[in-house]
Amino acid sequence: MKSHARVVVIGGGVVGVSTLYHLALKGWSDVVLLERSELTAGSTWHAAGLLPLFNMSYTVGQLHKYSVDLYKRLPAETGQDVSFHVTGNLRLATNRDRMDEYQKYCGTANTIGVPFQVIGPGQVRELWPLAEIGGGADTPAIIGALYHPDDGHIAPADLTMALRKGARSRGAEIHEQTEVTAVKRTPSGEWHLTTTKGDIVAEHVVCATGNYARQTGRLFGINVPSIPVEHQYIVYDESPELKAYRQQGGRELAVLRESDQSYYLREERMGWILGPYEAGAPARFADGVPDWFGKSLFEGDLERLLPHVEAAQRRVPSLANCGIKDIVNGPIAYTPDGSPLVGPAWGARNLWLNEGHSFGITAAGGSGWQLAEWIVEGEPGIDMMAVDPRRYGPYTSKRYVVQKNEETYRNVFVIHYPDEERADARPAKTSPIYDKLQRLGAVFGQRYGWERANWFAPPGVPAVDKWSFRRSNYFEHVGNEARHLRQHVGVIDLTPFTKHEVTGPGAEAWLDSLVANKVPSKIGRIALCHALTRRGGIRSEFTITKIADEHYYVVSAGAAERYDSDYLQQHLPSSGVSLRNITMSRGCFVVAGPRARDVLAKLTDLPLDNAAFPWLTGQVAEVGLAVDVYLLRVNFVGALGWELHFPIEYAHHLFDAIFEAGGEYGIAMAGMRAMESLRLEKSYRMWGTDLSPDYTPYEAGLDRFVRLNKGPFIGKEALERQLKNGVPHRFITFEVHGVTDADPLGNEPLFDTKGNLVGRATAGYYGATLGKSLGLGYVKPDFAAVGSELQIQILGETKRITVLVDSPYDPQNKDLRA
Ligand SMILES: Cc1cc2nc3c(=O)[nH]c(=O)nc-3n(C[C@H](O)[C@H](O)[C@H](O)COP(=O)(O)OP(=O)(O)OC[C@H]3O[C@@H](n4cnc5c(N)ncnc54)[C@H](O)[C@@H]3O)c2cc1C
Repeated sequence: MKSHARVVVIGGGVVGVSTLYHLALKGWSDVVLLERSELTAGSTWHAAGLLPLFNMSYTVGQLHKYSVDLYKRLPAETGQDVSFHVTGNLRLATNRDRMDEYQKYCGTANTIGVPFQVIGPGQVRELWPLAEIGGGADTPAIIGALYHPDDGHIAPADLTMALRKGARSRGAEIHEQTEVTAVKRTPSGEWHLTTTKGDIVAEHVVCATGNYARQTGRLFGINVPSIPVEHQYIVYDESPELKAYRQQGGRELAVLRESDQSYYLREERMGWILGPYEAGAPARFADGVPDWFGKSLFEGDLERLLPHVEAAQRRVPSLANCGIKDIVNGPIAYTPDGSPLVGPAWGARNLWLNEGHSFGITAAGGSGWQLAEWIVEGEPGIDMMAVDPRRYGPYTSKRYVVQKNEETYRNVFVIHYPDEERADARPAKTSPIYDKLQRLGAVFGQRYGWERANWFAPPGVPAVDKWSFRRSNYFEHVGNEARHLRQHVGVIDLTPFTKHEVTGPGAEAWLDSLVANKVPSKIGRIALCHALTRRGGIRSEFTITKIADEHYYVVSAGAAERYDSDYLQQHLPSSGVSLRNITMSRGCFVVAGPRARDVLAKLTDLPLDNAAFPWLTGQVAEVGLAVDVYLLRVNFVGALGWELHFPIEYAHHLFDAIFEAGGEYGIAMAGMRAMESLRLEKSYRMWGTDLSPDYTPYEAGLDRFVRLNKGPFIGKEALERQLKNGVPHRFITFEVHGVTDADPLGNEPLFDTKGNLVGRATAGYYGATLGKSLGLGYVKPDFAAVGSELQIQILGETKRITVLVDSPYDPQNKDLRA
């Protein structure tokens, strides 16, 4: 083994080998993979080899698509067959919500170019003659299905070997029986790895260790939120009926997924493989994989699978005539949200994760492709936030991960409602006033571990969500919250905001080098600033306030705490600037609406009139009994209002004082869904959905927050190039006509009037105070003019849309300046 490599990949499963292959493909040949046992010895060898293109995530969908395309090319490139059976994939639906889910997915598939068909029961019968269409008491009728003609199943070990060949032919080295046992940093900042076969120093390390992710993480001092869960499939003997069908010339049947019964079924040597996702599957190896496990399996637990076996037999009666040959029960890596961890680790330079894969055979190609791009080019080619390891924070305790992973596993096949909020491991992280909000009828959701009130059930209304792809039980109440805030005054608890304090003589210059806008130089000024990628895409959004000389307060999205904190930390100069993450020590309430000034005037002696306290300024104030409150005249709902960022110990006092002062104006809480409705009416872009690395500030219509004439900042050259070459997309706000019960929600395709795809929606909701169904999105520039008529597809129905002015509510910002 050589003593130095540019990159060392730890782990020789399909994911590690794919990463190695893609690094070599990008021209980095000085790359080495270390495997403690033999290639595929982890979960890869026993995987069922299914390659489902279906995924509700825009990012993961693109990774899976890349994989499927790559796996078709690999045999010709490497000379190694991978047994890719392109059988197609049929997902059955037996109720309307399931069809809605498929239709919602089709929007995403359309925008990323994945071929699919939505078919009826008659076509299901043609494609799958051995299945019952149903309609009996215990076999629900199939009302439709989603069909992917392009995917199927593959031999995972052969795939790994093909990737291995492709990597080695480009100079990559692979060492088996070589376990990484210790890690340290060299004085020059490289990684020194101790292995069972000697030492090696590397510039970059990629961890792709599957079920070992947590113990590998510990070597590097990080807590990786991936813990495997038991997963089983049953291998059946030959089926006489299947054999007869095939002997009569029938083609290999598509992989069948009966989502409503939580199982898949595919052909295997004239018999079947049946894979349920059952309740009660336990998490394993939370404290690490024991030495005795090696290349082994757990004992099968048929009892747990029986309800799914029976359901499958009802759908495919001939299954009952087959004997069970084997039960494969292996560990399958999971994360709390079911998506993998692909990208940089936090707190350490040049440490990369490609861990937590539960569909790793399917995702290996795509994740290796983007991770190699990230390592070699410095950033990925597509928006990877949905799989970025830094989407999790320090809250992922062992018990949290165990509970969430078990929940995610048994919910693989549930209907993925857009407003779904799962119950396990909650409440964990709460704002101090959580109990008060609960007493006010809050219906909570969870984001980044935080409990957030989505809406408030009025007295007598059950405080529960009825999840749906359409307007649901909370529609009216969310609308009332939004209208109340616009007409009177409302409070929103935004305590989860990410908050940093940047101080020191170099603070202003440093922040200026990170963002496209000019950081305020006058005390009390507030600026909306975007950190860009080198390609000019939007990486982060910061609201920056100059609190005092050499003192900035930097606020960003609650879910971006580790993502932003790590970025700031990594760019911190060695002297002159000090950075503190103060997220947990400050709370935030928004007081907004025409009466906001009247409410706050009772609590502070500061004059709040426009001359003394104009829009987009902030002051440090005493409010009620609280000291050191940052009063910022900004908000995300487009109303007269202030954000109060206060020392956390004043949360209860301030909440009570605000409600007491606001009593005479009918002050009321508003939740996250009302905020969504209000911000859409103002065309306010949301980081993480409307703003992403896929689009520059020019595409996002944020030109006024870019100062090309200020000095260098990350992404500046890319913006200059884009201005010269033309801006490929434009941001639009649009109204959807003829909506009865399904508003856009994001990821719907946008078409011109002739049906050509011209863009995509990134968000949508009902604008309660305008009484319009609204959406935000990106289109080709020719279609962005106000008044343009376009079309959108929502849950399979085509609707007419009209492009509106940016900020259809109060375009002159009169409310904000009132
Ligand atoms: C029963 C079952 C069926 C499945 N079916 C499918 C399917 O149909 N489709 C699909 O997409 N996915 C499926 N999966 C999931 C799939 O198997 C995994 O997602 C995939 O194999 C993960 O690959 P990996 O490379 O990340 O991990 P692994 O294959 O587990 O590889 C990790 C490797 O790292 C090595 N390693 C760990 N620590 C060290 C160290 N310190 N030094 C050196 N080497 C180390 C291990 O020995 C191991 O070989 C299934 C899983 C199970 C359990």
